[in-house]
Order: sequence, then structure tokens, then C-alpha cells
Amino acid sequence: LFPLGLLLAISMVGAVILFSRRRLSPLGELKIGIDRREFIVHYQPIIELKSGACVGAEALVRWQRPDGSIMRPDLFIPLAEESGLILGITDQVIALVIREMKSILATDHNLHIAINLSASDIKSGRALTVLGKALLNSGIQPQQIWLEVTERGFMDIDTTRATIERARALGYTVVIDDFGTGYSSLSYLQEFRLDALKIDKSFIDTVGTDSVTSSVTPHIIGMAKSLKLKIVAEGIETKAQADYLLEQEVEYGQGWLYAKALTSTGFIQYYWHNKLL
Ligand code: C2E
Ligand code: CA
Ligand code: CA
Ligand code: CA
Repeated sequence: LFPLGLLLAISMVGAVILFSRRRLSPLGELKIGIDRREFIVHYQPIIELKSGACVGAEALVRWQRPDGSIMRPDLFIPLAEESGLILGITDQVIALVIREMKSILATDHNLHIAINLSASDIKSGRALTVLGKALLNSGIQPQQIWLEVTERGFMDIDTTRATIERARALGYTVVIDDFGTGYSSLSYLQEFRLDALKIDKSFIDTVGTDSVTSSVTPHIIGMAKSLKLKIVAEGIETKAQADYLLEQEVEYGQGWLYAKALTSTGFIQYYWHNKLL
């Protein structure tokens, strides 16, 4: 009888472990996902528009659930940002990017990878420490790492400025992301010295249409140029959009017209076929 009782007890413990995740709150799930390192990174090629060559990629996080399904970032990043758990996700993204791209980045110093940072990452400055350690003796140059920051959630101008300045002093390329979608994009251009500006997809969508915002896009481009910022256009889906951006002498772009976000091996293959000669 004893072994049967023991067996019963073991299977009950097993069932509790197995089913406990289902009873967790979304936040609890996220914590466990971080502890179990369930995050993966896909890479969307960034193209030099005039040559059509691939010169970089944006690292885009995904959550690979235990059942194998892959969750899009917009479904968990907001919660991660609100709760501060984003710091743990950023750590994993940085570790993965360096692990997966180390050899290609070290071999080819013309290639860059852009990493997204949230307001909390900027506030804490932790990402720079983590990156610094990861890059040590890697053969990767800091200019090969682009840091995309959004104004979304920026709280404290002074801390934000301090982190941005430190990042630039360390040699990283700092990009303002989702430009034009927030309330204070313009004032951020005044407050911070940056290297590049990423035009949000919502503006690229209006190219060739007669919507009100379509008339704003050339002004954003002109402003970025007068500030000597590199420009990246995001969400290019049509040839007409690409032609317009070329005509406006926008340097870089990314979008489904060229490629969706790829796995690390998918991106490395894409890069070898499409890199600058
Ligand atoms: P984002 O930084 O604006 O990234 C661009 C998003 O647009 C990506 O969605 C990308 O897959 C999508 N996209 C690119 N080209 C096209 C196109 O031609 N058409 C369409 N329809 N979509 C396109 P994704 O990967 O779902 O990421 C969504 C957002 O999640 C990102 O927006 C970013 O704000 C956030 N995110 C992604 N990865 C990270 C990360 O590692 N850390 C942080 N903090 N946020 C991240
Ligand atoms: Ca981005
Ligand atoms: Ca963006
Ligand atoms: Ca966007």
C-alpha cells in the first residue's frame, strides 16, 4: 500500500507543477518566462536603399511559450514595461544578440544590429553595463550596436540624457525610434544629441496617399537632415514607398518589401546573399 500512496503523492505534486502555470496571472507567467529564459530574437534586415544591400538588422524579441507557440512583443512588452520586468528581458535580448551574431559581427565591421531599449532600460542604464561586458574581447566594435530608444515612457529628462550621452561616449549609435508618434518628439530632438532617427511606419504608410500626415513626412526627413541625423524608414511595404524614400535621399529602410524578421540563421543567410560587395 505504501508505494501506491507514494506514487499518488508524486503524481499529485507533478500535476500541481504542471497545472500551476495556468493559474498564474499574466505577470506571474511573465516572471516565470524570464526565469526560464523563454525569449528568442528575430532579425529584420535593414537595407541601404540606394544599393539595395543589407547593412544591418533590428533585433525583435519574441516569447517562445512552453507549448511551442510564439508570442508577439506587443502582447507582453507593455506589461513588461509597466512592471519593470523589461530589464530582465533586455538582458536576455542582449545576451542572445551577442551570442548569435558575434562571429558575423566580429568578421564584418560594416554590419550593425539595432537593439530596442525601453524607458526603464534608459533610466537604469543597466543595459550599457550588460552590453559592455558582452562586448568585451568579442571583436565587435561599439559602432556596430545601434540602440533604439523611444520617447514612450521617458520620465526623467536628466537621467535619460545622462544615459544617452554615456551610450554615445562609449561609441554606440543612438537612434530615436517611432519618431513622430509621441507628443514630444520635437523637443527630444532639442534635448538630446542623437545619431539617427527612425521614421515610424505610420508615416511611411501615408506615402502616395492624400492623407493629412503624408505632408508631414518630407518635413521629418528635412529636419533629420538639417540635424545631420542618419535616417531609417520603417515598414516599407511597396515599391512606390521605396522609390519615394530614394528620391528624398533617405539612407536606410526596412520592411516587408525586403524581408520580414528572420531567425538568426535565416538572417545570416540573407546577409551573405545581400551584403554590400
Ligand atoms: P518597433 O520597434 O517599431 O519595430 C518594428 C515593428 O514593425 C516590428 O514588429 C516589425 O516586425 C514590424 N514591421 C517591420 N516592417 C514591417 C512592414 O513592412 N509591415 C508591417 N506590417 N510591419 C512591419 P514586432 O517585431 O512585432 O515588434 C513590435 C514592437 O515591439 C516593436 O516596434 C518594439 O516597440 C517592441 N519590441 C520588439 N522587440 C523589442 C525588444 O527587444 N525590446 C523592447 N523594449 N521592445 C521591443
Ligand atoms: Ca524599434
Ligand atoms: Ca520603430
Ligand atoms: Ca513602429
